Amino acid sequence: MKKIAILGAAESGIGTAILAQKQGWDVFVSDMGTIKEKYKQQLDSHGILWEEGGHTEERILGADTVVKSPGIPDTAPMVQKLIAQGTPILSELEFAKSYSRGKTICITGSNGKTTTTSLIYYIMEKWGVDVGLAGNIGRSFALQVAEGDHDWYVLEISSFQLDNMFQFRADVAVLMNITPDHLDRYEFEMQHYTDSKMRIIQNQTQEDAFVYWKQDEHIDEELEKRAKGYAPSPTPSSRPAQAGHPTLMPFEDADFEKLNLTFSQMGQHNKRNALAAYMATSHIGVPDELIRQCLKDFPGVEHRLERVEEKDGVLYINDSKATNVDACYVALQAMERPTILIVGGKDKGNDYSVLNDLIREKCAGLVYLGADNQKLHQAFDGLGLPVQDTHSMKDCVEACIRMAKTGDAVLLSPCCASFDLFKNMEDRGEQFKTLVRAHNKK
Ligand code: ADP
Repeated sequence: MKKIAILGAAESGIGTAILAQKQGWDVFVSDMGTIKEKYKQQLDSHGILWEEGGHTEERILGADTVVKSPGIPDTAPMVQKLIAQGTPILSELEFAKSYSRGKTICITGSNGKTTTTSLIYYIMEKWGVDVGLAGNIGRSFALQVAEGDHDWYVLEISSFQLDNMFQFRADVAVLMNITPDHLDRYEFEMQHYTDSKMRIIQNQTQEDAFVYWKQDEHIDEELEKRAKGYAPSPTPSSRPAQAGHPTLMPFEDADFEKLNLTFSQMGQHNKRNALAAYMATSHIGVPDELIRQCLKDFPGVEHRLERVEEKDGVLYINDSKATNVDACYVALQAMERPTILIVGGKDKGNDYSVLNDLIREKCAGLVYLGADNQKLHQAFDGLGLPVQDTHSMKDCVEACIRMAKTGDAVLLSPCCASFDLFKNMEDRGEQFKTLVRAHNKK
C-alpha cells in the first residue's frame, strides 16, 4: 500500500486525508500545532491516524508522497528533510485534481481573487451546472472530490498552492494582477513571486484559456519571456512545470464600457473583477444575457466594500478586509460621497503617505481605531481634517455617527490587521455591522 503523509490538519489537510484513504492510500496526518476538535472527530470517524504538537519523523520521511498545507514554508525543518531526500511534496489541489473528473476555472492574483472567484461561482450556479467552490475559499476541493465530485470547480488559488502544483492544468486560468506580496516566502525576489503566479498557466495548451488583466505591469512581459522559452527556477520544494501556451484572453479597463456592462459592486477594481468573470464564463458558453444579469445581481462578498445600511442619508460601508494600504487606496478611489474613514489596527510597517492626496480629495473626517493610534496621528493629523481617537468599535461607531452629515459615507477600511482589538478581520467587520444596525434601528 502506498503511503501518504499530510502536513497540516486544517480544511485542506483533512479533505486530502479522506480522499487519500478512499483512494487506497495508507494515510498519516501530522500537525505541529493543535488540531481543532471538529477535524479530530472527522479523522477519527474515518479511522485515520493523526498526531499533533510535533512530527514523527520516521512516519513522514517514510511516506511515498507528502501533501503539505500551503501555510508551511519550505524553510520548515521537516520540509527541508523531505526536499533533501527527494520525496514529492504536493499541494492539496494537485492531489485532488488527479482524482477528479471536473473541469476547472482557476483564479489567482495578488488582489481580487475572492471577489472574482465568488462571482464566477455565482454565475455558474445560476447557469445550473454541477459546480463546486474550493481552493482558498469554501470547503476543501479534496473533500468534494471524495464526496462524489462535480462537473466543474471554481478554484481560488494562492501562490503558495501553485508552488506545489506540477501536472495540474486549468481549463480556464484567470490572473488578476501581480503586485508585491508575501515576498518573505520568495527570498525577497519579486521575480520568484511572479514566477509562482505565472504557474497558473502551467501545462495549458491552445485548447485552454488564459484570462488576464492586460494593464498589469508584469503579465504581458512574462508571457513574452515564456514564448521565447524562459524557464523559471523552481522554489526549493517545487519542481519545474511546463510553461504552458494557452489561448490568450486579455482584457483592459475600457472593455467594461465597450461591452456595456453593469456591475453591482463599486469601484474601478471591481470592474476588473467583473470583466475577468465575464470573459471566463463567456468562454465556456454561459449565455451572455445570463452573465449580464448575474453581474447586476451579485450580492458581493462580505467585508469587501460591503454596503451595510443607509440611515439619515449616511451610507455605512464595511471593508474590514482592507488590511493593507493598497486595499484602502482602491476603496477610497471608489467612494463617490464625502467619506468618514475609519483607519487603524495592528500596523504592519505601513507607509500611510501614499493615501494623503486621496484622503484630501475624498474624506470629510477620520476616525482612528486601534490599541495605539500614535502613528495615525503623526500620519494624518496634519491634513487638517476633523479627527477622533477611539479604542473600541462602540466608541468608533458613535464617533462616526456624530461626525457624519447627510450625504456622507462612513467607510471602515482600516489599512491594518485587526489583531490588536479583534479576533480577526471578520470579527471587526461583524462588530461594525452589528453596532451600525443597532444604532439605525433606534
Ligand atoms: P484577495 O482574495 O485576492 O485578497 P479580495 O477579492 O478578497 O481579494 O479583495 C481584497 C481587497 O483587495 C478588496 O477589499 C479590495 O480593496 C482589493 N481588490 C479587490 N479586487 C481588486 C483588483 N482587481 N485590483 C486591485 N485591488 C483589488
